[in-house]
Amino acid sequence: MHYYTLRKIMNYLIILLFASCISIQLEAQQTESVSIHLEMGIPLDDNASNDYLIIRPQYALSYNQQLNLANWVSWNLHRGWYGDVPRYSGNFIQDTSLPAEFYKVKHGDYTGSGYDRGHMVRSEERTATAEDNKSTFMLTNIMPQTPTLNQQTWLSLELECERMCKNENKELFVIAGGVFGANPKRLNTVVAVPDSCWKIIVILDSGQRLKDITSATRVIAVMMNNGTYTSGKTDWKLYTTTVDAIEERTGYDFLSDIPKHIQNIIESKNYVSVLEQVENESSVLFPHPVYDYFTIKFSGKKEDQYTMQIMDILGTVVESKHIQPMNDVDGSMMLKHDVKHLPRGSYFIMILSGSERISIPFLKLDQ
Ligand code: MN
Ligand code: MN
Repeated sequence: MHYYTLRKIMNYLIILLFASCISIQLEAQQTESVSIHLEMGIPLDDNASNDYLIIRPQYALSYNQQLNLANWVSWNLHRGWYGDVPRYSGNFIQDTSLPAEFYKVKHGDYTGSGYDRGHMVRSEERTATAEDNKSTFMLTNIMPQTPTLNQQTWLSLELECERMCKNENKELFVIAGGVFGANPKRLNTVVAVPDSCWKIIVILDSGQRLKDITSATRVIAVMMNNGTYTSGKTDWKLYTTTVDAIEERTGYDFLSDIPKHIQNIIESKNYVSVLEQVENESSVLFPHPVYDYFTIKFSGKKEDQYTMQIMDILGTVVESKHIQPMNDVDGSMMLKHDVKHLPRGSYFIMILSGSERISIPFLKLDQ
């Protein structure tokens, strides 16, 4: 009798345990699929007090009530999001879903400022339904961008996304936002103006998800100065960087649901510049091939700040440092650099100064 009761209790406990396991598993599944727009993880920094999460059917974002714009906007993109509904024609829309105590940016806050209402999720990227398109005009999806950034340089990468989706059937996971000084300029005393705008694009094939990401997955990362772009300087390929560099500037950990060992690899690569940049005619490298050191000569001004990066053929930045080039007799800048420590192989040198960039390929051989 006693034994029987114990068995009954044990069975009951086992059923309870089993049932609670199922419910825990269900909860875990629900968290994972909270939104397709957060497939790569929810970007977090070390201060959660100004990260107000908004999830819409069309995109997800983290809102900053001190800057009065998004810390980041994150969205999925493939050819199915592009349609042919006409562009929403009303004023940009106040986001009334924000908490009562938050200031709600209005269309007029940008008027006459000289800055464009720059979409993070591009209007064209949500044209399957009128409702989708209208959602991109919410002012929580907008940040101040200079006209040449918005209409030329930023647009050039939006067009590349459209091309990858439509012509190559890619599926993209995109995150975008701005970087801000300690005391940013404000539109109408409220909306902070970013110093630069950045975008991260994880490139997968149609239907692929987080689980399909490997260390060979391509990621485009750009950092674009929120200033004036002159002709010949509006191609997004001139502004590529690494996810690591964007994480350092913003304090956010992006792509955080990607296994750490893969995240480390793909976040340290600059995929684009290596294979697509051509030798700059206004620069010279010698000797070539390189054994112990190289000397480069390039046009520039002595008072400018220069950063030199050396990347391997896969785009991994193997060296990055501030440099102080010397003035050569003909007025060009000259720099001698030791590369004895580099393994033999093909590399690129990038010289960065403001929004200027020089890229020079070279071959390193052993003596
Ligand atoms: Mn735009
Ligand atoms: Mn990360």
